[in-house]
Amino acid sequence: MSRKHELLNLMNIDTSWIKNMSDGKINLSNLYGLELEAKNCHACALSKTRNNVVFGKGNQNAKILIIGEAPGKDEDSSGEPFVGRAGKLLNEILFSMKLSRDNVYITNTIKCRPPENRNPNSDEINSCSRFLDRQISLISPNIIILLGKVAAERLMNTSEPMSSLRGKVHFYKNTDIPMLVFYHPAYLLRSPSEKSKVWDDILLMKSITHGS
Ligand code: URA
Repeated sequence: MSRKHELLNLMNIDTSWIKNMSDGKINLSNLYGLELEAKNCHACALSKTRNNVVFGKGNQNAKILIIGEAPGKDEDSSGEPFVGRAGKLLNEILFSMKLSRDNVYITNTIKCRPPENRNPNSDEINSCSRFLDRQISLISPNIIILLGKVAAERLMNTSEPMSSLRGKVHFYKNTDIPMLVFYHPAYLLRSPSEKSKVWDDILLMKSITHGS
């Protein structure tokens, strides 16, 4: 390791990206490289209408990975996930779990905003799936929280209703990484009477993560 890297590491500054850049090629084996590739992705039509690719944000060593649906208007403008009204409610949910954005990594099923905030279609979800799959394997979380039906359908390959997906422990692919399905914060904003059910989701999560 060069003296420059040593000094930056002493200051707790991650230097892995410098290696990627100075190699002259993108190293897809880490999140920075993957993000650079996502930012140049034109695999589906959303690349023509997006303002920003919203790759994901948070602690790259997080034990908790949160996966939403797709960027909305605010996220498309800022390039960050969950910064609008739904994001504020997500912050509150995290707070009630004694967590903050620094403890978790947040991303979406697809990384570009669908026009008029429509649901992503299967072509868009499939085109983006390699980014989500790599993110999961690079972050290697202890638990995955799926916000809403789009994320649940993509990760579980199911079309079961939310009512039968919530309140149960599922597992990611053939691993022992537990996945929980929570109501999407945007749904909770539209249906405030459902907000109390978030407590059940939080309690289930606590019962799994207790001690980890
Ligand atoms: N809804 C989502 O699913 N993701 C965001 O980033 C914002 C709103």
